[in-house]
Order: sequence, then structure tokens, then C-alpha cells
Amino acid sequence: MKLITFRHDDRTAPGLLISGERLLDLSGLLPGQQGSSVVDLITAGAPALDLVRTLEGRAERGELQGNLLAMAHVTLCAPIPQPRKNVFCVGRNYKEHVEEAARARGNAAKLPAHPQYFTKPPTAIIGPYDDIPWDAAVTQKLDYEVELGVVIGRRGRNIPRERALEHVFGYTVVNDVTGRDLQRRHDQWFKGKALDGSCPFGPWIVTADEVPNPQVLDIWLSVNGERRQSSNTQMMIFDLPEIIAQLSEGLTLEPGDLIATGTPSGVGFAMDPPRLLEDGDVVESVVEGVGRLINRVRRIEHTV
Ligand code: MG
Repeated sequence: MKLITFRHDDRTAPGLLISGERLLDLSGLLPGQQGSSVVDLITAGAPALDLVRTLEGRAERGELQGNLLAMAHVTLCAPIPQPRKNVFCVGRNYKEHVEEAARARGNAAKLPAHPQYFTKPPTAIIGPYDDIPWDAAVTQKLDYEVELGVVIGRRGRNIPRERALEHVFGYTVVNDVTGRDLQRRHDQWFKGKALDGSCPFGPWIVTADEVPNPQVLDIWLSVNGERRQSSNTQMMIFDLPEIIAQLSEGLTLEPGDLIATGTPSGVGFAMDPPRLLEDGDVVESVVEGVGRLINRVRRIEHTV
């Protein structure tokens, strides 16, 4: 199933994609809080998901007509537009990306011995087709990074590696947009990766049952139709169970938490010469069997 958050008539609600062209408005169809948002639905656990599955079947059989909307008549938001905490991210998780970054900086490539975590704040999140704002007074080197996103379904701490995927609710696509000059200037990752609008994600969350093996997915990104990144999630240095197990050591993961799992090679700053994002560029970020983001870079005024 593909869970979405949509906006329609100034109302934001959780929904379910039905056959690509229509959505089922889940608000009002689920008991209590469950229909309030995608996070509330995820938090309600397996019984809520079973109910959504039943509703999907009814909608496909032609019932619930009053709760269906044409996708063309709504705006898709990020599936979790306002998460309760920062987005967890993993840096340097594909070998060829580690190597290209070292090459661009004239360093020797040294693979990480443990996952390198950082975060992006909730204010970075934008929808799957929203513009990526670019304030040239803040960064002159805006770059892209397509990543597989993992959404946690079940709360847990000190999650063992072999049970890690049981805690996954589903998968999504993330573009970890980065101001490379800020990343360098502040000598860590947070500042350059935390700008407003620097986390397009969606267009939906695909439930884990539809992705039997998340470690064999093609992942690619294009700018204005030109393929820049192209890899497969099997090339990750730390796989999803390892990322979840180590992140959850002494740190509670909760339903609705999002983890971006690192980007493959082909980022703009590491090209020779570098090719950073410019006003009007259209960035397409794709994970096979999960989804596709399409975001245009839009230059904005530097205002207080
Ligand atoms: Mg990244």
C-alpha cells in the first residue's frame, strides 16, 4: 500500500493511493486519532494497517465512493509533513561516493568503520513535487543526494540486527539537499544539510510488505533529464539492519521516525568540473519500486 498526505480545500489529511489515479481519504474512516495523520496511523500499529487494507479492498470494489478523490485534484505533501523530531541521516554509506568525495578534496579515501549519523530538522521537509528554495546569499554550492528513506513502524531501543527490519513500517524517497560550502565551512554536516526546504521526501510511504528486499533496489537521480547518480541499494556499506541496530543503541526509535540511508556517487560537487544546482534545474530522485520525487530549484530572495 502507498500512504500519502494530501492537501485539498485547505485541509491536510492522510490518504491511500488507489490504482494510481485516485486516493482514498482516510480521515473519518479510522477510529479515534488514527485517521488524523499518517504518523497517528503508523503509531496505531498492525490493527490500524489491517483496517486500511480492508478499506483498500472496499474502494477497489467500487465502495466508499464518497471518500475517493482524483489525484489530479489534490496537492501531495510529504507523507509526514511535520515529524515529531529530526530526520535521521547516514553519511558516506556508498563506497564510490566516499571515493569521489575524497578525490574532489584531494584526500585519501577512508571508509567509515561505523555508520556516520547526522540529522535534518523538520523545517527542512518539503513535498515530493515542491520547489527546492535556493538562497544564493546563504549557499553558492547547492547539491543533491538521492537516498532510500526508511520509516520506523515499531518503537524500539537496542534493536538487534536480526530483528531490525521488523521495526520498519515502509520505504520512501529522500533528496538530502546540501549546501556544500556550508558543510565545509562549519566542518560538520548539520548546518549545510539543515536548510529550509532541503529535504524533499515522498511521494508516499510504500508499506514494507511490498518491498520484500530493500537491499536490491536501483537508485538514481537526474538533473534536467541527465542521469547524474545511478546505483543500487546493495552497494551500501552499512545495510539497513546495521543502520537501525547501531542507531537504536541507547536511543529509542519511534513510529514515524524517518532515516535517510546515504547517497551513491555522482553528486555535483565531486564532478570535474563541479556541477552544482542552478535556478530552474529540475531534479528527479528515484528509488525503483518505491517512488519518484520531482523538484525544481527556485531562487529566492534573502529576507529576514
Ligand atoms: Mg546524504
